[in-house]
Amino acid sequence: MKHVLLLSTGGTIASMPGKGGLEPAISGEALLNRLGDLHGRFHVEVKQILNLDSSNIQAEEWKLMARTVYENLEKYDGFIITHGTDTMAYSASMLSFMLPALHKPVVFTGSQIPLDDMLTDARNNLFCALAAVEAGICGVSVAFNRHIIRGCRAVKVRTMGFDAFESVNARYLGEIFANGLRVYDRQEPREDRLRGLMDSVSTDVFLLKLIPNTNPKFFDHLIQMGYRGIVLEAFGAGGMHFHRRDLVEKLNMLKDHGIVMVACSQCLYEPSNLTIYEVGRKLLDCGVIPAGDMTTEAAVTKLMWALGQTDDPEEVRKIFSHNFTGEISEQTIEGASQ
Ligand code: ASP
Repeated sequence: MKHVLLLSTGGTIASMPGKGGLEPAISGEALLNRLGDLHGRFHVEVKQILNLDSSNIQAEEWKLMARTVYENLEKYDGFIITHGTDTMAYSASMLSFMLPALHKPVVFTGSQIPLDDMLTDARNNLFCALAAVEAGICGVSVAFNRHIIRGCRAVKVRTMGFDAFESVNARYLGEIFANGLRVYDRQEPREDRLRGLMDSVSTDVFLLKLIPNTNPKFFDHLIQMGYRGIVLEAFGAGGMHFHRRDLVEKLNMLKDHGIVMVACSQCLYEPSNLTIYEVGRKLLDCGVIPAGDMTTEAAVTKLMWALGQTDDPEEVRKIFSHNFTGEISEQTIEGASQ
């Protein structure tokens, strides 16, 4: 019998039709009751810590989730966090960093259709999350549509389909088949890894998706607004324009202001590589840190987290370039130490 703490935070899974559209309304306790028979395999306790659409989940809520898990770590075999799907990938990534080297499962799940709807996928996803806890898949993961995805590799890719999440540049941790859950990776933490709660983050991080014609003057505003870190979603393997509208010159200015810059790709799959093209190498020359094959969600949350640990841009570079929890394949970070 596994002892599980279910933290409910809202999202579609807990939503009901309200005056202004679907809104979170079902309590954590009610979620559990509606799940019904747990087959004698789980004892689940519930803490409703939030009741929000996940569009409203930000740094304060990440800290609350991480702290609640941390404070209860020794009392339970695992944790399920029910969460809206829209920003679940950000929360799962951030908790992967805030709770390093977890030796217990922390499984995010939610649904595309509210639990009360006849066609809901919520029950399926919740049982998938329970199965991940039962199998002892350690660390932060996302359980959705019969797949278990490493938290820092999950990306929401569909607005309506039940296969809303994909595991990007990493294989699933587990998959449910007709003969049960097949586990590919239990994510057991290395014993030498530091454990604890590391929940300091900086919210002064901006994500810029480049488009052809991006106006370089935009970067002046980022400096004025006090941003400390910028994630650039660059073209293809990692390029940006310097003809006529010279973004490279601006990046040098940002660097002089101590702003940490990271580049990832606009392509969902496969790694960025800033060493291939001139338009990428120029980024490296400006001190931009390559994000390798990290998802944008992982790059954004990791930069927020790294800036929460230190003010020193060189330290941030070191932290950002280190693989903590499978968020980056080490062979994909060419040029990181330049
Ligand atoms: N808007 C909802 C949320 O993210 C969507 C969902 O849960 O699927 O809270």
